[in-house]
Amino acid sequence: MKKVISGHQPNVLNDTITNLGQSLGATAIGFSDLTILPEQKRMGFDRAITILVKLSDGILNQIGEEPTQTYFSHYRSVNRLLDDISLRLLLTLEAQGYPSVAIPASQSVADPDDPYTGAFQHKTAAVLAGLGWIGRSALFVHQRYGPRVRLATVLTNGPLAVGEPVTASACGSCRVCVSACPAQAIEGQLWTPGMRRNQLYDAFACSQQMKEAYQHIGRGAVCGLCMVRCPIGQ
Ligand code: SF4
Ligand code: SF4
Repeated sequence: MKKVISGHQPNVLNDTITNLGQSLGATAIGFSDLTILPEQKRMGFDRAITILVKLSDGILNQIGEEPTQTYFSHYRSVNRLLDDISLRLLLTLEAQGYPSVAIPASQSVADPDDPYTGAFQHKTAAVLAGLGWIGRSALFVHQRYGPRVRLATVLTNGPLAVGEPVTASACGSCRVCVSACPAQAIEGQLWTPGMRRNQLYDAFACSQQMKEAYQHIGRGAVCGLCMVRCPIGQ
């Protein structure tokens, strides 16, 4: 597994978490300072650990004009792996005296402004950790693996060294995901820090596409065309 920790000084707790996470299957682990976010958004925690697992190229490359059942199953399997790794990291932190919270890989809560968002947005922590940026598609885009990743987060107050946040999109003039989306859900804007997700894409239109066009494949995932067509990580 490749070790990806950007821009911070070595720290014993960072190394413990990184080594454990990678031994359990994480592709990369990132660390971020959350204190620029409102306290309520970060549940009172100052630090986040991002767990990243790369999706299978073999499975993603089978997606042509629509998602496959294999992808749908893989998506859920990777979410389970992320949740298992998060739990193990959380237990390790708590055994060292740092109460922590693991945010599930896939979780929606009732936010009246953005009903398809999670309790804490994993990609916010991943960007603050310096692992990548937010694409025009509103997906997190890892510097090496592109959007072909899934994320989970552990919130903690453990004394962790942190990465250097990414503050600009690297999508450039690319608009591949905008053209690829069958629901015309992607607005085409370049991400800047602080932008709300609904300025980038219409989560309702995306969800409806999955429900209406791909019901035979399964509910609870996204179609993935914006992810597989992105040139970064192919
Ligand atoms: S998952 Fe599919 S419908 Fe949703 S934004 Fe991406 S391409 Fe569009
Ligand atoms: S397809 Fe292009 S515009 Fe869309 S996220 Fe990837 S690099 Fe950015």
